[in-house]
Amino acid sequence: MRQNIIAGNWKMNGNISETKSLLEELLAGKWDHQRCQAVVCPPYTALSTAGKLLHESHIALGAQDMSEHASGAYTGEISTDMLLTVGATYVILGHSERRQYHSETDKLVNTKAKVAFQAGLTPIICVGETLTQREAGQVHEVVEAQINGTLSEFSADLMMKSVIAYEPIWAIGTGKTATPDIAEDVHRFIRQKIAELDADAAETIPILYGGSVKPSNAAELLGQPDIDGALVGGASLKADDFLAIINAV
Ligand code: PEP
Repeated sequence: MRQNIIAGNWKMNGNISETKSLLEELLAGKWDHQRCQAVVCPPYTALSTAGKLLHESHIALGAQDMSEHASGAYTGEISTDMLLTVGATYVILGHSERRQYHSETDKLVNTKAKVAFQAGLTPIICVGETLTQREAGQVHEVVEAQINGTLSEFSADLMMKSVIAYEPIWAIGTGKTATPDIAEDVHRFIRQKIAELDADAAETIPILYGGSVKPSNAAELLGQPDIDGALVGGASLKADDFLAIINAV
C-alpha cells in the first residue's frame, strides 16, 4: 500500500500574515487523514511560523530546497539542521525552477537527497521533460537519465524513504495539464526504472504528478494506478482548491 501525498509548493509566495491565514483555513479543512498525507512547503521566511501552527497537526511541513552543506560560508543557504529546528519533515529537491534558474544538476540533487535523508528529512525529488524534449520524442530517455542520476547509489533505506515528483516542465504554471494517459505512461515508466534499481522500493515509493493540478482535473489524474499524489503549485495557495485536491485522492 503506497502513501498518497498532496504537497503544496508555495514558491515565493506567502508573507507571515498570509501564511497564518492560509494555514488556519487548511487546518479547519476535513479529509481522511489515513488516506492522504498533506504537506505544505512555504518559503523559508514563513517556515518557523508554519512549523508552530502545524505542530501536532495532520499537515506536514516541507522546504522548497536546502543546502548540501551542514554549515559555514554559504551565503543565502539553509541547512538541514535549520529546517529540522522549525519542524520540517519534507524537502523538495531538483524542482525545475531550481534547475533552470540556479543550474542545479542531477548530481547535486543526488547529493542533497543523501544529506536530507541522513538528517531525517524526506526528499521529494523532481524530474520532468521540457516541451522541446517531449516534441522530439525524448521523454523516456530524459526521465530515465534524471532518475538514474538523482537516485544514484541510494541505500535501500533511502530508496524506500524517497518521494518522486514527475513534473513535465511544459505543464508547470502554464495551465496545460498532462492528460491522465500521458502522466500515467511516464509514472509507470518511472516505476519500472526504479524497479531495476530496487524492486521493493518500486512498490512502495510514492510518485506524485505535478503540473497545473487543480480541483477540476485532480480526480482523474489521481485515479491512475501509478499516480500516488500531486505536487501542486498555484492551486496550493487557495485553501479551498488545495483541500478539494486532497479530497480528490
Ligand atoms: C510546481 O511548481 O511544482 C507546480 C506543479 O506548479 P503548478 O501547479 O502551478 O503548475
